Amino acid sequence: MKLGLRFRLIAFTFCLILTVGGSILGYSVYLGRDNIFNAFEREAIESAAVITESVLNDLYFFDLRGLDVRLAAARANTDIRRIDVMDLEGVVVAETGKGDSRLGHQLGGPLAAGMRSASTWLSISEGGFFHVAGPVSMPDGSRIGYLHVEFALDEPQARAHHLATGIFLMTLVCLAAGGAVAVGLSARFARPIVEMAHAARQIGGGMLETRISIKRNDELGVLAQSINELAANRQKAEKALAEKAEELTRSNQELEQFAYVASHDLQEPLRMITGYTQLLAKRYGDKLDQNANEYIDYAVEGAKRMQGLIRDLLTYSRVGTRGKEFALTDCEAVVAGTLRVLQPAIEESAATVTYDPLPTVMGDETQLLQLFQNLIGNAVKYRDSKPPVVHVSCKQEGEHWLFSVRDNGIGIDPQYANRIFVIFQRLHGRDKYAGTGIGLAVCKKIVERHDGKIWVESELGKGATFHFTIPTNGERT
Ligand code: ADP
Repeated sequence: MKLGLRFRLIAFTFCLILTVGGSILGYSVYLGRDNIFNAFEREAIESAAVITESVLNDLYFFDLRGLDVRLAAARANTDIRRIDVMDLEGVVVAETGKGDSRLGHQLGGPLAAGMRSASTWLSISEGGFFHVAGPVSMPDGSRIGYLHVEFALDEPQARAHHLATGIFLMTLVCLAAGGAVAVGLSARFARPIVEMAHAARQIGGGMLETRISIKRNDELGVLAQSINELAANRQKAEKALAEKAEELTRSNQELEQFAYVASHDLQEPLRMITGYTQLLAKRYGDKLDQNANEYIDYAVEGAKRMQGLIRDLLTYSRVGTRGKEFALTDCEAVVAGTLRVLQPAIEESAATVTYDPLPTVMGDETQLLQLFQNLIGNAVKYRDSKPPVVHVSCKQEGEHWLFSVRDNGIGIDPQYANRIFVIFQRLHGRDKYAGTGIGLAVCKKIVERHDGKIWVESELGKGATFHFTIPTNGERT
């Protein structure tokens, strides 16, 4: 699953605050507890020293009553649970506080053992209590006994508990603050970035009217403004392009219309010229000299050529202006029809024309017939000494059909592969191969009207293959 920027920013900030805050708080707990117990130990040893001072005389004179009084007074300190005063043998001679009486007994445990060899106070936390033990010495340093004081740990434990509670509450505050900071950061930075990414994707996808509403004075504001400007500029450029394309289509249509009207209207006077020149030759041919008759022949030939050119030009201009609605068209039937039209040329050249099974496409049947007629007609016409062999094939390539018309004729120098599709462009003189140079230009126009492309693959002397495409969209095969 892809996590969004906002979620990641919140999670990252939260984890960061939790880690840093948690480490600081954890370390504080550790230090705090240590301090509490160290302070307690110091106070305990100080209390024990004060008690030692108070029992010194009574122990020296072995005044047990006095000792009891002193101990009772010392017990006023609520932390003290028990006090034992011992003679030099470690035998308890006076005691006060909780627990079984130890009078007359030696104190056991590691503390009692260490106490006799140590010169200072020993302390140990054992059995849930804190024990302090040390020697009772006269001002001259001579030891007269030992003292053991047992403290309850309630007070330091309560302080440590308070500390832990405080730190726990601080942790909660930290978490809440971390959450708030994370959400705040997300709202301040991640949300605008997410909004901009969304808008940029929409603009990239073509919804150019999309705008980002973020207004701020930092880099994010500049970025938002730049994206808006980019979208506006692209919108402007696309509008200008659409206008240009519309203008181009209009002027193209006007031009086609002009070519159509011009070639159509030129036919009539041309027919008159041809007709009257032929009449002139017929009626007055015997009255004119040889030269005059030759001039009349040239004039008739020129007029006929012009008629041919104008007829082809008319055909060319009709592709765009007089095309029919597209309908399902069986290309196999179209090719069969083409062959019937071309039958005389095929027979005359002893050509073999074959074709594979061909699909049904959405198109203008008349124009498709014209297309195949021009291509197959050329394949038969531009032959060398051998009889022409022509094959029409078709295969589906993704979203379109790829048609191919292959011949074994004279071929085309690849450098002229594009030129031959331009109107009136011919590679041969009229004396060798008749024609006006319009056929392939018509083919190109027809294929483009069908949303396809046309091109040739050939080498001089090695035949030529003309390819063109027609979209498959939705037709049956
Ligand atoms: P036209 O055949 O009237 O000259 P086209 O536009 O049909 O006009 O063809 C243009 C030129 O392309 C032709 O003059 C010829 O030189 C070349 N051409 C077309 N078809 C072939 C072909 N199958 N083999 C060789 N050359 C060809």
